[in-house]
Amino acid sequence: MHATILLAPRILEIREIEKPQLGDEDVLIRVRACGICGSDYHAYEGVHPRIKYPIVLGHEFSGVVEKVGSSVKLIREGDRVVVDPNITCGKCFYCRSGRRHFCEELQSVGINRQGAYAEYVAIPESVVYKIPDNISFEEACLTEPLACIIHGLDEIGIKVGESAVILGAGFIGLIFLQLLKRIGYSPIIVSEIDDFRRSKAKELGADEVIDPTVDNVKDVVLSMTDGKGADLVIECTGDVKAFEQSLEISAPTGRILEFSVMPPNAIAKIKPVAIYKKELRIVGSFTNPYTMRRSIKLIGRHIVDLSKLISIKVNLNGIRDILERKVPNVIKALVIP
Ligand SMILES: [Zn+2]
Ligand SMILES: [Zn+2]
Repeated sequence: MHATILLAPRILEIREIEKPQLGDEDVLIRVRACGICGSDYHAYEGVHPRIKYPIVLGHEFSGVVEKVGSSVKLIREGDRVVVDPNITCGKCFYCRSGRRHFCEELQSVGINRQGAYAEYVAIPESVVYKIPDNISFEEACLTEPLACIIHGLDEIGIKVGESAVILGAGFIGLIFLQLLKRIGYSPIIVSEIDDFRRSKAKELGADEVIDPTVDNVKDVVLSMTDGKGADLVIECTGDVKAFEQSLEISAPTGRILEFSVMPPNAIAKIKPVAIYKKELRIVGSFTNPYTMRRSIKLIGRHIVDLSKLISIKVNLNGIRDILERKVPNVIKALVIP
């Protein structure tokens, strides 16, 4: 089968590799769509904190079951499915204490085991989910990033009627925007350096959209929140400066969700006294434990509109141009192997 392999940072090749071996508990999936994630750019650029080269990237995917192992119980050939790329052991301390995302044996598809920039992937049944017929493969492959967002909102805690600032209007920021809007956050202010992304944020209902390279973010946030600052700040830029800024623009008792994957050596300069004086809460959010089903439901019931965020579809040959950032105005690119 064909797969696009990242041999080392910036060295990407399409190769003919063997079709994955099917274990007793595995499901062989013919990949129909796979999202290119922000973290795939990090892997390509050599700044991903967890990647092991060589690797076939691709962890946001959907497909059709081609074959099932002898011990598979609930999934059948021909089922339309999505995958939680985080495969856990079910036996370790964390798996047994409701924190499977910290599994001591964690294997992540497309990060440290073969991913879905390929025609086929073999995946344990335990992380495979059937999808309803009304969800397209293209929407379905985005179940995983949406599941991560749901986990982030679970962790930070949401309160109807609060104000929010979203730093970064990429795919993730624009989904947070849609959900916060629906939940009843107001105002929602989006800060984003890219023109096209700012226009998307406006289109999706942001109350104010600002360019941090031109506008004074703190002034705008204060003016829109009666001088108080934001109750909720979601950092999804991957830029340390945005994290530093999140402390400045938070209201007293504000909460900061640190969602983006920063480079492993990034160091932020913050004043701890701001955390003390304003009683800030800074919360991290890692992957998507136990949120896949809710994510499928939100997509199936059209509570988030993913179609507006899919900018381009490429085949295995087209991945390089996307990862090289040669294609302008991409919110989300999909690979159709
Ligand atoms: Zn991802
Ligand atoms: Zn475990």
